[in-house]
Amino acid sequence: MSDLYERARELDAKDQLAGVRGDFVLDDEGVYLDGNSLGALPANVPGRVDDVVRRQWGELRIRSWTESGWWTAPERIGDVIAPLVGAASGQVVVGDSTSVNVFKALVGAVRLVGGPEAGRDEILVDAATFPTDGYIAASAARMTGCAVRAVEPGEVRGALSSRTAAVLLNHVDYRSGRLHDLPSLTAAIRAAGAVSVWDLCHSAGALPVGLDAHGVDLAVGCTYKFLNGGPGSPAYLYVRREHQAAFDSPLPGWNSHAEPFGMRSEYEAADGVVRGRVGTPDILSMLALEAALEVWSRPDVSVDAVRAKSLALTDFFLECVEAYVPGGRVEVVTPGAHGERGSQVALRCADAGDVMGRLIAAGVVGDFRAPDVLRFGFTPLYLSFADVERAARGLARELG
Ligand SMILES: *Cc1c(COP(=O)(O)O)cnc(C)c1O
Repeated sequence: MSDLYERARELDAKDQLAGVRGDFVLDDEGVYLDGNSLGALPANVPGRVDDVVRRQWGELRIRSWTESGWWTAPERIGDVIAPLVGAASGQVVVGDSTSVNVFKALVGAVRLVGGPEAGRDEILVDAATFPTDGYIAASAARMTGCAVRAVEPGEVRGALSSRTAAVLLNHVDYRSGRLHDLPSLTAAIRAAGAVSVWDLCHSAGALPVGLDAHGVDLAVGCTYKFLNGGPGSPAYLYVRREHQAAFDSPLPGWNSHAEPFGMRSEYEAADGVVRGRVGTPDILSMLALEAALEVWSRPDVSVDAVRAKSLALTDFFLECVEAYVPGGRVEVVTPGAHGERGSQVALRCADAGDVMGRLIAAGVVGDFRAPDVLRFGFTPLYLSFADVERAARGLARELG
């Protein structure tokens, strides 16, 4: 036991990201392993929100739409997220929830390929998807005259045909933590003439995505998990540049109009990713998110550094679990291979709900996913190897 404790101290001493933890509000007693559900509070956010509320809203009032940059915040903050997901500027717009953006992206995807009239009447959906994506996909299919087919990501290749309109996949499976092969799946979808829609909720901010490099068509993601934007912070939509002129949003609100203040009765979509906007943006949440994203401009922070530490943290957690937890007590669900692992570790045991309840009471916060999964998220920006060792020791105690 003390070996791993010592190892944790050595790993922390060499950790290039160790200094970033001070940019977050955390207590030293517990261990927070739920940043894949709600990221911790960045220390600069309260002051920013105070300024937005008291000065920008309280004093400048309506002038802030221009003077404080409120109106252009969705595109501006989209351009801050873009490099984190491997996109050049002008392709990401922030707003609405992930669920709403899944709807825009899927209906937009079917329209890009002409839908049933063009013989493309099938939407393939990740069989293990986070439920909201599946519900929205079913409704998008009904509206566009398509059928939905659930497929395991590993079986997408065999399911693709000239009838496939769109394929909606999760980059990292929220339950198992499995990382899917975005480059090769995207290439296969493209080769079949279909449109790829990737959900990046569990990958953005934790690992490189490479949207531009891998030819992804459309993508969505939330900002309150590894991007630490805060509860209910707005999501984002990526529309690849080559598709922007043809992207036909099913929610063409006035914010997506070429001339929003022309108040015209005829709709004309704006150029660029702005056409992914809908209505008046949620400014308080959005500007809290903008402050939260500033950590990514630190010279010591990069997606590659975060990914390297994420793999080191999850490797170390698995090693500690192996050493501390009696053999056979839990089954490791998350893949061992680095290329197949996101930034979380999922462990299965029959009494997972009770175990997680006790663990949280003891200060180690992960979460339980029905029916039998203990889920631990690892946010490299603010977790130490000592945290990981302590969490594994706590877990072993509750499982004992
Ligand atoms: C977290 C998550 C969501 C959440 O959607 P909301 O609309 O923000 O509630 C959707 N999809 C996936 C894959 C997620 O992990």
